[in-house]
Amino acid sequence: MAAPRPRRILVAEDSRTMAAFMSRVLENAGFEIILAHDGQECLAKARTTGPDLVILDLMMPKIHGLDVLKQLKADPPDPVPGVMVCSAKDFKTEVEQARELGAFSFLSKPFSHHELLAQVEGFFSANGSGVAPVQGLDLGPAEVFRPQLRSAHGMYRLWGTRGSIPVSGPGFVRHGGNTSCMEVGHQEDRIFFDAGSGIRDLGLSLLAGPPCHLHLFITHTHWDHIQGFPFFAPAFTPGFEITLYAPPNTDKDLESIFRGQLDRAYFPVQMEDMRAHLEFKHLQGNALEIGDCRVSWEYTLHPSPTVGYKVEMGGHSLAYVPDNEFLKGYLGPPAEVGRDSQLLGIHARLIEFLSGVDVLIHEAQYTNEEYLKKIGWGHTSLSNACALIRHTGARKWIVTHHDPIHDDEFLQRKLNLTQQLLSELGCPPEVEHGHDGLVGYL
Ligand SMILES: [Zn+2]
Ligand SMILES: [Zn+2]
Repeated sequence: MAAPRPRRILVAEDSRTMAAFMSRVLENAGFEIILAHDGQECLAKARTTGPDLVILDLMMPKIHGLDVLKQLKADPPDPVPGVMVCSAKDFKTEVEQARELGAFSFLSKPFSHHELLAQVEGFFSANGSGVAPVQGLDLGPAEVFRPQLRSAHGMYRLWGTRGSIPVSGPGFVRHGGNTSCMEVGHQEDRIFFDAGSGIRDLGLSLLAGPPCHLHLFITHTHWDHIQGFPFFAPAFTPGFEITLYAPPNTDKDLESIFRGQLDRAYFPVQMEDMRAHLEFKHLQGNALEIGDCRVSWEYTLHPSPTVGYKVEMGGHSLAYVPDNEFLKGYLGPPAEVGRDSQLLGIHARLIEFLSGVDVLIHEAQYTNEEYLKKIGWGHTSLSNACALIRHTGARKWIVTHHDPIHDDEFLQRKLNLTQQLLSELGCPPEVEHGHDGLVGYL
C-alpha cells in the first residue's frame, strides 16, 4: 500500500521573506509547500496542484486576495481547498469579507511560527471547520504609550518672519507676511522681541489673559522692527506695564522714536492715548534677568545700532539675530572661510556670543546672486549665513527675515539649497524656515 501523500499547502504570498519563513516552518512540520507570488499564480496553482489548504495574503500583485477568494468561491477547484487568509490588513471589514467569501480563518500579521502551525494544524485536525481565528503576535503589555511634548525647557513662537515690509497674497500663505516679532517663554515667564507687524496678533493673544508686565526687546528701530507698535492692543489697555529695551547710541532717544511714529501726521491716536504704563530703556551692562531667563545681547553688522539677543533658560539657549551682514562683501565659497580667517575678525565677539546655542534664529535674506547688488545693505547672503552657522556650532538654525520678494515657492528652493550647502560644509544642523505662527521647544 502506498504511503499517503503529504498534506499539500499552497502559500500565496508576494513577500519573498515572508514566503520563505512560512515554507520553512511548514516544511519542517511535514507539509508539502507550493508557492505563488501573486494572485494570478495562486488561482492557477489552486486549480493545477490540488492543494488541501491555501494560505492567502490579501495585498498581492495582479489579483487582490479578496478577488482570488471570490473566484475560488464562484468556480471552486476540485478538490475544494480550505482557505486561510493571512494579512496585516486585519480590519473588521477585511476579516468579515474574507469569512463571507469562504475563508475558514484569518491570521493577522505579524505572527510567530507557533501561531502559524497551530492554525494550520487546527485546520487539518478539524477538517477545515470550527477553527478560531488567531489574533497574531502578542503585542506586549496593554499599557498605552502616551508620549508627551517636552516643553519645560522653554518655547518660542514667531509672530512675524518677514524683513523690510509686510506682504500678503497667495504666494505668501505658508511663510506669512508679518514683519519681525517673536515671543519666548519659560515656565511662567514671557519675553518679547521686536515690534514689527507681527506684534499686532501677539497683542490680541495677550488680551486673552489678565494685564501683566511685558518686556519688549527691540533689536533696532528700523521700520520693520517697530511698525506694529501703534497696533499693539496691550499698549492701549490699562493695567499693562510695558518696558521697551533697545540698543544704546540710537541717534534719538528711544521714547522719541516710538512717539514719532504716533505723530498726528502718521496716526490718529497718540502716545498719550496709550493707557498702559510705558517705560523706555536703553540696554546697559551685558545681561538682564527676567524671572528665570537671562537675556544678553551683542552688536551685529547692520546700519544704525543693532543687536542680536540671546536667552538662556532652564539650561538651554536661544539666540535671535534677524539683521546681520555676516562676512560683508565676501562672495566666495563658505568652505574657504576657516576658523583662523581674517574675515572673521570683526565678527569674533558675535561668533563667541552665539557659540553652541541650541536654537539660532538668524537671517539669510539674500541669495548669493542678489547679494552681489546689495553689499552693504545690512543683510547676509545665503552661503555666508551657512558659514556663520558652521562657526557657531548652533544645534538648530531657523532662518528668518525673509525678503518680501521671495514667495513660498522661491523660499522652498532656497531652503533646499541651504540644506545642500550645510551638508557640503559637513555641518548639517537641523535647519528650517521660520514662518508666522511657528512654535518650537528647546
Ligand atoms: Zn529688519
Ligand atoms: Zn534693519
